[in-house]
Order: sequence, then structure tokens, then C-alpha cells
Amino acid sequence: MQLSDVKLTVQEVMDLTNKYMIETYQRFPFLAVKAKGMYLYDEEGHAYLDFYGGIAVNNAGSCNEKVVSAVRDQVGDIMHTFNYPYTIPQAVLAELVCETLGMDKIFYQNSGTEANEAMIKMARKYGTDRFGPEKYHIITARNSFHGRTYGAMSATGQPDNACQLGFKPMVPGFSYAEFNNLDSFREAVTENTIAIMLEPVQGEGGVRPATKEFMQGIQKLCDEKGILLLIDEIQTGWCRTGKMMGYMNYDVKPDIISMAKGLGGGMPIGAICAKKEVAAAFNPGSHGTTYGGSPVCCAAAYAQVSELLEKELDKNAKEVGDYFMKKLAALPNIREVRGKGLLVGVEFDFPGAAAIKHGCLDRRLLVTAIGGNIIRMVPPLIATKKDCDTAFEILKASVEEALKEEKDR
Ligand SMILES: *Cc1c(COP(=O)(O)O)cnc(C)c1O
Repeated sequence: MQLSDVKLTVQEVMDLTNKYMIETYQRFPFLAVKAKGMYLYDEEGHAYLDFYGGIAVNNAGSCNEKVVSAVRDQVGDIMHTFNYPYTIPQAVLAELVCETLGMDKIFYQNSGTEANEAMIKMARKYGTDRFGPEKYHIITARNSFHGRTYGAMSATGQPDNACQLGFKPMVPGFSYAEFNNLDSFREAVTENTIAIMLEPVQGEGGVRPATKEFMQGIQKLCDEKGILLLIDEIQTGWCRTGKMMGYMNYDVKPDIISMAKGLGGGMPIGAICAKKEVAAAFNPGSHGTTYGGSPVCCAAAYAQVSELLEKELDKNAKEVGDYFMKKLAALPNIREVRGKGLLVGVEFDFPGAAAIKHGCLDRRLLVTAIGGNIIRMVPPLIATKKDCDTAFEILKASVEEALKEEKDR
């Protein structure tokens, strides 16, 4: 059997999905068959303007030509070997990422949550090696999001939300402090604290940027107390916020960063980068992964990062993002427009996010809704001001419609 021989109607695809798949997602009610640049296409060729970018993944545009050809070239040579032999894609990507970011070392994983597991494990191993086994405590922020596996889920500061409920007990050794509140973090430090772990902009937590005073205060606190600064760049990394990495907006220098989403251009890859004295905590046997560092994913990531650099998509994200945020302030019933670069959140003063999202979908604009009253947009970073104008008009019509529904109810 070949997939190309399979002929199904849209309804049959939906029925198979509903019958056999364990569903944890609220699906958009259409069948995606093609993606290119700023658009996703259904089977009838309708174009959807993509302002969720596969959740901040397709930074250089969906099916970017260089990424596609890198994958095509690599996939026929070596798809997988495990990490015993040396491979070219791993080596050249390691140099490109480390030199671009000014970091010493990289370790490859397959996803964001796994990158965070590696970051947490490295911090604890470093603490144990240097100071003893009681140096394990990690402080993260309330409302943060770090992933769905046990370490990353335990680091996620949302004890009362669906991501943790039903899965307790969490991994011990984490505590949560208030984001953008330096005193709260200072008070959470104990003699066992080895690390503070933060997102520069809380993404899933409602698109909340850290303040400069807070980030710099955290850096100072870490320096004073010998605490490692871990930055989760999974959503904010790779030009999303107008800089290569989100932390670069704040003049801080983290000890370890995690990345994934925007790195692979649509292929599943995650990674951590670390300073060399911290990276030395990992040695043969202490950590590993079967697929991490896949030649195909590394080849894709090499093409993706090269595209981001060549097209200067950090600058485009800043310019277009600033333009878009200014424009969005003219929407009705806004409480706040916030974000950095093209990581943009619009908070409304009524709980209409789901209705607005559906209104946008009807008008073929893709956005995500969080927390009942927030619309989040993370388009590919090739977005133009014209794309933002189109998105704005659709949003405006959808907000007006949602308000009318709210009143009629
Ligand atoms: C998406 C995300 C993760 C988890 O990444 P996955 O690849 O879905 O495991 C972790 N942290 C942040 C900040 C994210 O946005």
C-alpha cells in the first residue's frame, strides 16, 4: 500500500481521525493538504492566512524552499544512524548555532519539552557535581509553560490548570515565584537552589514579556548567589521577538538556553546551548537520545537558520511586529496589546477569544485563543505589513461579530 493510492473524502478523513485518534486538540474544521509561505491550503485550494505558524515553528515560512531541498538531499543519504558515527549536518549546525549565539556547546534533542528536560538535568548534575546532591532546587515562574513531560511539566508554574491536573505528584524540587516580581524570586531562593528558569516572554501564559528591570535583577541575583540562569527560548527563539534569541532583548547572559519550535523549519528538533563549564556536567552515559541530532533534522535546521540570517528576519519581526501591535490597539474592546516582535497577544475586556478565533477561521485567518480572552498570533517572520493589514481587518470584523453574539445572548 502506498499513501498516494489512498483516496478519501474530507468527511472520511475526519471520521477516521475521530474514530481512531486520542484527541487532545480542538481541531480547526478543515483538511490541510498544502502549506507555502504565509498560507495553509485546504483540499479545494482555499488559502488560509496563517497567523499561528504551526505554533511559532514556521519562522522562515511554511515549506521554505531551502529547508525542503535540504531535507530532500539529506533523506536519501542518511536518514538515521544514532549518535555513534560523526555526521556532517550535526557538526555544521553546531558551529552555526554556537557561533551565531555566542554559546560554547550544543546538545540535540527532538522537541521542546525534551530540550527542557536536558536543561533541567544539566543544571541538577552541575549542582550535584560541584556542591553535592542537595543542590537541586529550581525556581520557575507562575503562569509559565515549559512542556508536557514530567520534568518540564513540573517546571510549568500552573498547578491548578489542565496541564498538571490529574498527573500529580509532580517531580519534587521545583517552586514557583511571581513573574516580573524580583522580590518574589529572591524570597524563593534557598540554600538548595541551583537554578532559575524563565521564558523571556511567557507565551502560553498569555503573551507576557518580562520587564528589563526584572530580567537584569534576576541576572544579578543569580550572579550573587551562584545560581544558574536557564532561559526557555522554545517559543521566543530564532528571531521571533526581533532578536536572535528573546534574552538578547535584555542584556543578560544565560548559562543554558533551550530551543526547538523555530529551529527546525518544520522538522522536529530541539536543543540546548550552554556555557562550557556548565556543559561539562554531561559526559558519556549521563544523557542520551536515539533520534536527537537526526541528520535530516539537523540539515533542515541548518537551512532554516541560514535563511533567518540571510533574510534578516529578526529585523523584519521587529519592524512588522511593532507596526502590527500599534495597529491592533485600534480594535474594539481591547484591554491590552502586548508582545515582542511577532509574538503578539491581544487581551479583550470580554471572554470572547474562542468566538473571535472561530470568526477569523470563517474568514480564513488562523489565530489561537488562550485563557478565554486572549488572541495570540505568531505568524511566520516573513509576514509583511500588508499581511498584518489583512489580519487586522479580519480580526476587527470577528471581534465585532463576537461582541454582537455576546450582547444577543
Ligand atoms: C512549546 C513550548 C514548549 C514545549 O515544546 P514541545 O516541542 O511542544 O515539547 C516548552 N516551552 C515553551 C516556552 C514553549 O512555547
